[in-house]
Formats: sequence, C-alpha cells, structure tokens
Amino acid sequence: MRGLWSGPYPWSVPAYLDHAASTPVRPEAVDAMLPWLRDHPGNPSGAHPAARRARKAIDEARDVLAARLGAHPHEVVFTSGGTEADNLAVLGRHDAVGGLVVCGATEHHAVLDPVLARGGRTVPVDAAGVVDVTALADLLDEAGGAGEAVRLVSVMLANNEVGTVQPLAEVVEVVRDRAPDALVHTDAVQAFAWLDVAGLAAGVDLISVSAHKFGGPKGVGALVVRDGARLAPRAVGGGQEGGRRGGTPNVAGIVGMGVAAELAGAGRAEAAVRVAALRDRLLAGLVDAVPGVVETGVAPGTDPAPARAGRLPGIAHVCIPDVESEALLFLLERAGIDASAASSCSSGAMEPSHVLAAMGVPRDLAFGSLRLSLGHASTAGDVEAALAAVPPAVAQLRAHR
Ligand code: PLP
Repeated sequence: MRGLWSGPYPWSVPAYLDHAASTPVRPEAVDAMLPWLRDHPGNPSGAHPAARRARKAIDEARDVLAARLGAHPHEVVFTSGGTEADNLAVLGRHDAVGGLVVCGATEHHAVLDPVLARGGRTVPVDAAGVVDVTALADLLDEAGGAGEAVRLVSVMLANNEVGTVQPLAEVVEVVRDRAPDALVHTDAVQAFAWLDVAGLAAGVDLISVSAHKFGGPKGVGALVVRDGARLAPRAVGGGQEGGRRGGTPNVAGIVGMGVAAELAGAGRAEAAVRVAALRDRLLAGLVDAVPGVVETGVAPGTDPAPARAGRLPGIAHVCIPDVESEALLFLLERAGIDASAASSCSSGAMEPSHVLAAMGVPRDLAFGSLRLSLGHASTAGDVEAALAAVPPAVAQLRAHR
C-alpha cells in the first residue's frame, strides 16, 4: 500500500523520505507558535508587560532545551539554525582566541567550511564514517610539538548523509589529554531526534542543534556554550543571549522549537525503535530488488546489523552502480517520492559527496548515492511506496545506458 495521505500531515507528496533535510512541523508546535505570530507584539528585550511575556515564553523554551541538552538554561544561545550555531562555534572560537581549529572529514559544510576558511585541519574517518581517534591524537600531538595551540576540535554526534554516530566520549578524552586549550564542539543537529544528546555530549563544551530536524520550524536553532567558554559573538549590537548573539530573537520560532524539543525528547526511544524497523525493512527490500545495490558503510556479504547499530535509525543510505543520482531522483519525484542524493554541485561539475569520498566510496559508485530518510511522521506505507518506486526506476535508467 502506498503512503498516500497515510501520515497525520497533509503535505502534497505521497511519500516524504527526506527527513534528514527537514521534518514536518509538529501540529503542537504550530499551535504554540501561532499566538506569538498573531497576538503578542512584545520585544523580549523590553521592560513592559508585553515584552516580559515574550521573554517568559523564550525562557520556558530555554528551560526545555537546557534539560534536553544537559545544560544550564543560561548556557543555551538561540540562533537562526544549525548553520549559525556551527559558525558561531568555529568562527566565534577562532575570532576569540586564534590558534588551530580541527574537525572530522565528514562534518556538515556549516562546520567544515569555516574550519577550512580559518586554515584548520581535518581528521580522517574509516569506511563506516567513524572518525579515526588515533589520527586525531596524532594530529594534536603533532600540533603541540610544533608549538601550535589547538583551540577547537569539532566532531559531529551523527552524520547527516549516512547517519554514522561518532565516539564522542573518546574524542573528548583525547582532546582533554593532548590539547587542554581546546574546546570540543559537537554538531548534534541530526542526532537530537534520535539520541540522548545530554548523555552523549556530557563532556562537550559547545553543542549545536536545529529545530527543523526534530519537528520544529525552520530558521531557529541553538548553541550550548558552557560557562566560561571563550567565544566571540558573530552578531553584535543588542547584547541579547547574554552577549553571545545580538539581535531580536525569533520568539515564535523559539516557542515552536521548545514544544518540538519536548515532544521529540519524550517520544525519542519509542520513535527510534519504530523507525529503525522501518529503515531495516526499506534496506532489506532495496537489497532484494535492486541488483548490485551497496548499503553504504557495510562490507558486501557481511551482516549489516552491527553497522546499522552505529547509525541513526532514520537514515537509509545506499549507492547504486550504473545509475546517476540526479536521474534517479527525477524518476522518483515523478513517482511521488521525495528523497535526496546528498551530493553537491561545485564549479559547474557534479562532485560526489565529501562524506562518501572520506569514507573511501569509489567515485563512480558515489555518483549513484541515494539517501532515504525517515522521521517521526514516517509510516510503513512510505517505505512500501519507496520499494515500489526505486527498483523500476533503476531498471529504467540502466536500460537506457
Ligand atoms: N549540521 C547538520 C549535521 C545538518 O544536517 C544541517 C542541516 O542539514 C545543518 C548543520 C544546518 O542546519 P540548518 O539547516 O538549521 O542551518
């Protein structure tokens, strides 16, 4: 059965399989936001009752985020989303103290690009996309030996393309041991919907999240900045967010983020089990029906279960030989499936994703990448719709090669 209108959200495509790009906004978050768009004019920085009401609404959301992220409320800095939070962590740190900034090779561009722009260095990953902690230790030792102070190490909690979860506690241990002047940042944008960020990032100094990845609105996020962390603001002027981020905050968006965070947190364990089963069904169906398909990060002929246990439950990533992602996505779109390839177009030429390249996926294979990502609203019908659409689309493309 197709997933047509089967979920509680009446969007206009039959099967939405791109939750890693953005999730549907939870109805409760919409309801909570509306009064702040329609009825309440107050600027939270003001002193009168309308301003105080807005401030109180933001502080309630701040309390929720703090609890879910294992932080004190005053450590939560609201931003315009994950990109701004990541930029604030990397560029704000470098602007404040200089030195060397380091990140994993498979980071989102919101971390990778600022790290490279500041002359930083990347740490390799293995074939599963797990950061090489020994290589990180060596890099830190080498920098220390050369008298170069490492000031930031950024390793994402979970990857947005393939879903690999990183050994953050090990990273923290190595950084504390070898680079005591460094702060550890983690981009938990994809992880928040699925993992206990408060527990897994307990030793981390800076944590990025973004509302639209867990049922909140687009354009709002947060960076946890632990007490005492030296970080220069990127937006200055009004002194908002404890001087960490100037500008009138997005009250409605923050309220929606708070509600979504509460709901995502409360339903997280159950959703992870349910969605992991959907993902397993999807991957098993693709392996059965698409000749030659390769589940990313799983050695051919081996049991995929251990690899999947180290991934987010919502992401099914495969590479399909003799197929180009763009053409496949076009056919899937016509079949009513919204999905993603996660490759990027640079200098006019298609480039395979830097994540797959870092994992050692051969270039030809990487051009056939397909990410089908599930979320809180996904149904068995969505999975069946994808399984009905992908195999004939692949066959059609191969027939015309
Ligand atoms: N970091 C990761 C891991 C992401 O997946 C994304 C969005 O795709 C971002 C950062 C950027 O977040 P935003 O879209 O809120 O700017």
